[in-house]
Amino acid sequence: MERATAHIGVGSNLGDKLNNCRHSLQKINQLPGYEVIACSDIFKTDPEGVVGQDWYANCVAEIKTGRTPFQLLKDLLAIEYDMGRVRTKRWESRIIDLDILLFGQAVIESNNLTIPHPLLHKRRFVLEPLVQLAPDLVHPILNVTIRQLFNELPKGSSAEVLKEET
Ligand code: ATP
Ligand code: CA
Ligand code: CA
Repeated sequence: MERATAHIGVGSNLGDKLNNCRHSLQKINQLPGYEVIACSDIFKTDPEGVVGQDWYANCVAEIKTGRTPFQLLKDLLAIEYDMGRVRTKRWESRIIDLDILLFGQAVIESNNLTIPHPLLHKRRFVLEPLVQLAPDLVHPILNVTIRQLFNELPKGSSAEVLKEET
């Protein structure tokens, strides 16, 4: 079966943040039907949209899968739950957050799933790791490359790298 390439945004701002990010990718890789192909550096970033939260560890992973976007979402939410994420309100501190950023060139707008991720093009903490893996990938709605989106971000400083890609 033809496998799609998808990009997952990974974030953690509770507990052992780096290990939480790494562990979540191991869990994805262990699931049948998924293969983690590459991971960006892990960056230290400031929380966005909220005040008073601890810093985040953020990275992006490239995966290959024969599963559907909806099955992927279900599996990512299950991993978040298994790792102990407690859902309270949006943008609350979390042990692990796994967002589907892109799923090939798929465009999906349903109640529980929007692909590409609606804030992807606005977030430095997403574009900075994503541009390492997929600079020439074209955003299926905006029709520009990830590199262009990254370069067009409002001025801001690069995030500190916590862990280099291995
Ligand atoms: P944000 O989406 O702004 O990054 P968040 O990641 O904190 O916020 P969550 O509370 O983790 O939001 O997720 C809420 C819901 O978002 C999920 O239960 C899921 O159904 C929905 N959702 C919609 N599109 C996506 C996507 N592309 N990836 C992951 N979840 C998505
Ligand atoms: Ca998120
Ligand atoms: Ca999420």
